[in-house]
Amino acid sequence: MKQAAHSWVAIRAMALLADNGGNKGLVKLLSPYACEASVGSWLPDATDAKAGGSATENHIFKMLPISGKPDSRFVADNKSLIKRLGPVRMMSQYLAQDKALDDDWWARAYKAEPKKSGQHLPNRAMAMHTMLKDLLLLGDDSIDKLVGRGRGYDAYLVAEAETRQQAVATYFFMLSHFVADSCMPCHCDGRNLADYDKGLHKQWEAHWDRLVGKGFAKDELVEKGEEPKACIPGEQAMENARAVDSVLKLDFKKTTVPLLGTGRDVWLEMVDVCRASFALSAIVAPPTKYGYKNTAARAPYADVLSEKPLLDELDKVILHDAVLNTAMVWQDTWQALTGKKS
Ligand SMILES: [Zn+2]
Repeated sequence: MKQAAHSWVAIRAMALLADNGGNKGLVKLLSPYACEASVGSWLPDATDAKAGGSATENHIFKMLPISGKPDSRFVADNKSLIKRLGPVRMMSQYLAQDKALDDDWWARAYKAEPKKSGQHLPNRAMAMHTMLKDLLLLGDDSIDKLVGRGRGYDAYLVAEAETRQQAVATYFFMLSHFVADSCMPCHCDGRNLADYDKGLHKQWEAHWDRLVGKGFAKDELVEKGEEPKACIPGEQAMENARAVDSVLKLDFKKTTVPLLGTGRDVWLEMVDVCRASFALSAIVAPPTKYGYKNTAARAPYADVLSEKPLLDELDKVILHDAVLNTAMVWQDTWQALTGKKS
């Protein structure tokens, strides 16, 4: 995704949590800094961030079939994957009714093979999720009041080393970037046709930025007037984000943000979301025509997504789940410290 879509996903996830009840402290923590969403949720794609934990390969989990005897660990049949992802996710709903991928596709073993250690999207999301809990524990008075645990380290941690609210809000938005990337089919498909500059990936992402519109750039999320510019009120930013639902034909009104299931964690969630995204990529560019051995190096956007119903449906599924998954991961981070409240 590009900046506008990432920024919209983060602010829409905040609004979803606000509308969902529970997690009030988290919404209070994030909403005064809604304008940082356009920065935080985009930071991992900024050139400077590539030298750190945001190297391009950390945004992807590109799968391909494993040759030889299938290892059952890398097989996720349709029913099991849908069960693990749960009914609230639109990717589950879509894959449950899909007829494009047959049993043979689902019976194969697929695996992402990161080239260097660290180049692994689920690892990156899990690492940020874990670090965020530490940063919240080391928060200043305003964070401590929202987390509500009381601090055991007051006697030895100097005030300058405490996490500030604006900083931790920015890190939450950074985490949303990686969660949203796991929902992008091209980030999870190892075929050359899914590379950024091969005619599909970049064009599809540009289309999403056009859909969410111009309201989510930094300049649109700050008060007009003198420097330093203050963020517009969180409520207003959230209302702007909710207004995009009608463009995408999304309906979050009855959506409850589910807890991660028993025995589940952010890493497992991301691996499964990436598998579902990979399945969507195989629907868009069927492997019978666009083989896994790169028999067709390009599957241009104009060719494979020209049929309106498919494009509209996938836009809806992907952007819905990017928002929902972000809210789920944030909620899990927050409730790890504050207890389960929804
Ligand atoms: Zn990215």
